[in-house]
Amino acid sequence: MKVGGLGDVAGSLPDALRALPAEPDVRLMLPLHGGFDSRDLGLRLIASFGMLGYTREWKVQVYETVASGSPVYFVSGDGIDPDGPVYRPSAAADGPKYLFFSLAALEFCRQIGWRPDIIHANDWHTAFAVYALKQRYGSEPFWTETGSLQTIHNLPYQGQGAESALPEFDLPLSADPCVPEWARGFPLALGISAADKVNTVSPGYAWEILTHDHGAGLDPLLTARRDDLSGILNGIDTESWNPTTDAYLAHRFDLSRLADRAKNKLALQAELGLGASAAVPLLAMIGRIDVQKGVDVALAALVLSLDLAWSVVFLGTGDPALEAAILEFCRQYPDRARAILTYDGPLAHRIYAGADALLIPSRYEPCGLTQMFGMRYGCLPIARAAGGLTDTIVDDGNGGDGTGFLVPGMSEPEFSEGMRRALRVYKDKKTWKRMQRNAMKQDFSWRASARLYLDLYRQIHSIRQAERNRMAGKQTRDVR
Ligand code: ADP
Repeated sequence: MKVGGLGDVAGSLPDALRALPAEPDVRLMLPLHGGFDSRDLGLRLIASFGMLGYTREWKVQVYETVASGSPVYFVSGDGIDPDGPVYRPSAAADGPKYLFFSLAALEFCRQIGWRPDIIHANDWHTAFAVYALKQRYGSEPFWTETGSLQTIHNLPYQGQGAESALPEFDLPLSADPCVPEWARGFPLALGISAADKVNTVSPGYAWEILTHDHGAGLDPLLTARRDDLSGILNGIDTESWNPTTDAYLAHRFDLSRLADRAKNKLALQAELGLGASAAVPLLAMIGRIDVQKGVDVALAALVLSLDLAWSVVFLGTGDPALEAAILEFCRQYPDRARAILTYDGPLAHRIYAGADALLIPSRYEPCGLTQMFGMRYGCLPIARAAGGLTDTIVDDGNGGDGTGFLVPGMSEPEFSEGMRRALRVYKDKKTWKRMQRNAMKQDFSWRASARLYLDLYRQIHSIRQAERNRMAGKQTRDVR
């Protein structure tokens, strides 16, 4: 079940960890969201228990399946609407679901007697588990050796409003003086404050969130935790995203067969009802239609570049006002622009394989995956120089040693200038192809990042062991 980049991560990182020589025992837990097509998963009910809340007992069921060798547990029960979406529009509405899920996940470990060394929580939705581990369970023998990692995939999403769920499970607001007053119940702030280590999904973003501009109000808390904060770049699943074997493509290709790639462009233009033309550069934008992603900037920059030849395709869903702006743009420029405002995984593959360049004018980008898929498929990114985009795209200033184009500022003229620069290079076929080959050669697999995660888990494990030894020493002294 995937609605954005976190789906890619949850689908790939466990396998990549298991493939390391240390073969860690990685288990994935997620809610049994509504709309989940679980028919082929062979789910097996393996635990059923109750959790006491303030007003009632909450029933939990946990189902198991195995994916690529890793156990996957789906949590279902009173707190999870069997027909509900992955995310509701507000964190206030989602708070009870994810608090229930987080606590049920911890309780489940105890129920099956499986004591994890590390709980790795992602985003605010599971940060409750990190907080509860420290706040409530830290002194219980079952949990004393379990450490925690809080990963931030997108800092402004802190779970604002979800704090109203806390009292049902008797969890207090944070007493950490480094947590700002207004965030004392926001799950992400609780997770950042309570975790043994905190990381984000790129080194660049780890640095940016310490600043006032990108800290979303939590920069003082993050600065206080700076020694425990790091950035590890997300990888991509290089098996399902492989232009040589991709079943979604009419014409598979690799870097020695870029002529076959060109056939995908013509097929895509035909599919979109845009005139087939190898010469007119085809631009694309794929992803959540959100202010973060700079859709407005892309539209304005395209208007500023109307004197040049290009056509553009948008694939995404999200903010209704921005979706309407895209549709209006397509109405104004019917010969040049198409929009598919739905979630369409196979079409995303065909666009990465057929479009010439990917527009990524993100206002901020914790890691970003689209640029990596684009580069792997020879679709060069024109991206704002932010966070993970800067960490993954090489821009050598047109010389042909680069893998894309980075735009320093966020203004519309600046992004338009970046597009112009890319379209100038596009006319120089030799340089463009060289850049495509450079991009396709990049190694964005999870291998390197999985190793970094394992190192981080080991550091956390050492912290927990030192803490346990310290406590044991203290107890011995107290007895004496
Ligand atoms: P974020 O996690 O901020 O949404 P990322 O760039 O990290 O952005 O990841 C987005 C992922 O979701 C990519 O795999 C992208 O291809 C995919 N995606 C987003 N919207 C769509 C869509 N409408 N159809 C198909 N794939 C989509």
